[in-house]
Amino acid sequence: MIARFLGNVFSGRIFRARQPKIIPFKSHGVARERVSRCALTVTQTLQRRDFAAFVVGGAVRDLMLDGEPKDFDVATDATPEQVRELFRRSRINGRRFRLVHVMCGPETVEVSTFRGTQGVEDADARVADEHGRILRDNVFGTQEQDARRRDFTINALFYDPASQEIWDYHGGVDDLRKRRLRMIGDPEKRYREDPVRMLRAVRLAASRDLRIDARSRKPIRRLAHLLANVPPSRLFEEMLKLLFSGRALECVRQLRAEGLHHGLLPLLDVILEQPLGERFVMLALKTTDERIRAGKSVSPAFLFAALLWHQVLAAWKNGESRGVPPVPALYEAMEQVMRVQAEKLAIPRRFGADMKEIWALQPRLLQRSGRRPYRLLEHLRFRAAYDFLLLRCESGEVDPEIGAWWTRFQRAGETERQEMLVQEGEPKKRRRRRRKKRSDAGASAGAEG
Ligand code: ATP
Ligand code: MG
Repeated sequence: MIARFLGNVFSGRIFRARQPKIIPFKSHGVARERVSRCALTVTQTLQRRDFAAFVVGGAVRDLMLDGEPKDFDVATDATPEQVRELFRRSRINGRRFRLVHVMCGPETVEVSTFRGTQGVEDADARVADEHGRILRDNVFGTQEQDARRRDFTINALFYDPASQEIWDYHGGVDDLRKRRLRMIGDPEKRYREDPVRMLRAVRLAASRDLRIDARSRKPIRRLAHLLANVPPSRLFEEMLKLLFSGRALECVRQLRAEGLHHGLLPLLDVILEQPLGERFVMLALKTTDERIRAGKSVSPAFLFAALLWHQVLAAWKNGESRGVPPVPALYEAMEQVMRVQAEKLAIPRRFGADMKEIWALQPRLLQRSGRRPYRLLEHLRFRAAYDFLLLRCESGEVDPEIGAWWTRFQRAGETERQEMLVQEGEPKKRRRRRRKKRSDAGASAGAEG
């Protein structure tokens, strides 16, 4: 009792022995048919064995908002081993917290055992760093505790597909109706435990049209620096979610409004303060948003290449001003920018290679004579490089005539193409000599790529 009381005080708020508000179907209207087949199978199978089982987290939130959840998570009082035994196609995963992935056809449902919040005797089970960031957290708990350790009230709703009830411990349903994003417990403490929650707040608010409640919002600016302690791979994961949320433009605006872009990502840091760079980044985000909303594919490598382009440009110019020939200077600049990013944000190797190719093709798109445009058309990354060029044109960095030239060249028949090639006449002579030097450098650079 005392432990529970202390625990409640500790989490920033005095809880009476908290009972969920059980909200019936008729007042929330979320029908079980909207739950995926796999999640339904999982909850039914568990419940048949007398385990508690609920759809939980983002899926319930998005169903309530009339959205279509990306994926379904299930929470249960069965242990991972018990869950594992019930489903043939399942696997125990997770480092910070062990959970079970259950697969049905192409779908995977993540099943986690209710997690505890405090009162941990086992020092091994929960470990925090000197800023309060929780490094490991492997304690099972009750459903009520599981609700309390979640981040926002609207993420702590439990939906029972059998009864079609929502179990709400923290007023999340009311917050959803008011479109309010509110942290459970003491916001500062919760951000200290896991600084990524600040990014989640911004992403959720921006992507779901919610307002961050004043108490949850206030500490963010002051605690923004804690993001520096988050492992780069986790930041990268969160940035991917943010940039591919379909509302990236809004997310980035809000990151800036909350003071979260500084030091978080060098790419947002510098770029958003250069007028041409900002225009370029915003255009890239807008295009990404439009593609995602239209259900088209998007490439992380393309977007990251765009976000970092103006840093590459700056480093490139710098190299040239030190007398490095253009193409080697570009390669140096690419390496330098990637190195800085790797420290902050672990961009996976496979994206890195694609990004460099997109960048490296940019100078080649300016060469429009002889066989070069033909060779470029055959290049595996031509399409990405061309799309990238169009963004550069649209942002005012490159003469739009060049983008239009490539658009036409791709569609043109052979005769028209021949006519389009930039002729090597008198006025071009000086340029030709320069270009010759460039292509020499290009040949050596080509050997690298
Ligand atoms: P989305 O899937 O759109 O990113 P989500 O809320 O489902 O949003 P997930 O990362 O899938 O996000 O997490 C599932 C649930 O786990 C959340 O709804 C929340 O209840 C809980 N959760 C996730 N991250 C945290 C965190 N950093 N701190 C506390 N709870 C979290
Ligand atoms: Mg989710």
